[in-house]
Amino acid sequence: MEEVKIMQVPFNRLDLQFEKYQREYEEKVLSVLRSGWYILGKEVSGFETELASYLGSKYAVGVASGLDALVLAFRALGIGKGDEVIVAANAYIACFMGISMNGATPVPVEPDEYYNLDVEKIESALTSKTKAILAVHLYGQTCDMVRLSAICKEKGLFLVEDCAQSQGSLCGDRKSGTFGDIACFSFYPSKNLGAFGDAGAVVTDREDLAERVRVLRNYGSEKRYHNEVIGYNSRLDEIQAGLLRIRLTHLEELNREREKIALRYLRGIRHPKMVLPTLRDGCSSVWHLFVVRVEERQRWIDYLGEKGIGTVIHYPIPPHLSQAYRDLGYEKGTFPYTEKLADEVLSLPLYHGMTEEETDYVIESINRF
Ligand SMILES: *Cc1c(COP(=O)(O)O)cnc(C)c1O
Repeated sequence: MEEVKIMQVPFNRLDLQFEKYQREYEEKVLSVLRSGWYILGKEVSGFETELASYLGSKYAVGVASGLDALVLAFRALGIGKGDEVIVAANAYIACFMGISMNGATPVPVEPDEYYNLDVEKIESALTSKTKAILAVHLYGQTCDMVRLSAICKEKGLFLVEDCAQSQGSLCGDRKSGTFGDIACFSFYPSKNLGAFGDAGAVVTDREDLAERVRVLRNYGSEKRYHNEVIGYNSRLDEIQAGLLRIRLTHLEELNREREKIALRYLRGIRHPKMVLPTLRDGCSSVWHLFVVRVEERQRWIDYLGEKGIGTVIHYPIPPHLSQAYRDLGYEKGTFPYTEKLADEVLSLPLYHGMTEEETDYVIESINRF
């Protein structure tokens, strides 16, 4: 077999999408710096309006991070001590923490073949304490929102969405983030709609929830020095909001670029030992991550590493087995599918500015293993 030349393909490169719109980003930062107004100003309210309108929602409220968005969303819904929230067992740890930080209990449920909450398994996890379902659109693909909405309606539960990885993804013709009572967004730099620091938002059609989060994010006060409740400091700053407004105008284009790379992977990778991601009928993915599954994962990581290809595991330890959640008392083997996924998932390089040559090099290296 002919030798393929080694090429460096890191897992991610955040500098390339910055370079692509560099002038716009730099002009925005300078204009905010010169404005003399740095927190909760016209960039934040402009971004909130534009984000809500892009998604097709009524209200967006900028906060300091994705975790804060979750914490404030559950608090605004009045979910706390003694309450239970259903969440996919393979979700990111922040999803669990957003529930726990309000004193409520996350109740893990196994995911389906699309790595999202398995709707069939929800019924047996419901108790009289269940107050909400958290739908985490993992890796970029929307959950089965039609059936989740129906279950929540039937059982009188709140439906909360975590769109940290799914900005712009669809279920039918509606975007993720528009199905539930309230949706939570993270704009951590590596997300599809990424800031250049920490940032987040909640999105909702309910005016009362938007208003509550607006009050909670700023020390529990709407009117300065009139504090209605004990709140937080979870304000979004003007520089991040300004940069996000620019990134939002390019989000569709950036998502299409990710999709092109993902489709190239899906067409090109042919390895009997690698399981490729699939899409649920009627749901789209914005390919936040391209996650494959392999047995003997470390051998793959080492081999791809030798080829100059970076990979990352999302996520190696499921929350129910993490030390932080020891007190929930779950033992290994409680969620076998989730634990199998944690042993097998591997994310391949996928970033803005990734060339076809780089993508093909990853494909060829995999196919030769
Ligand atoms: C990134 C992420 C979060 C947390 O967002 P931060 O901004 O890092 O706090 C929450 N949920 C999911 C699914 C995420 O991917």
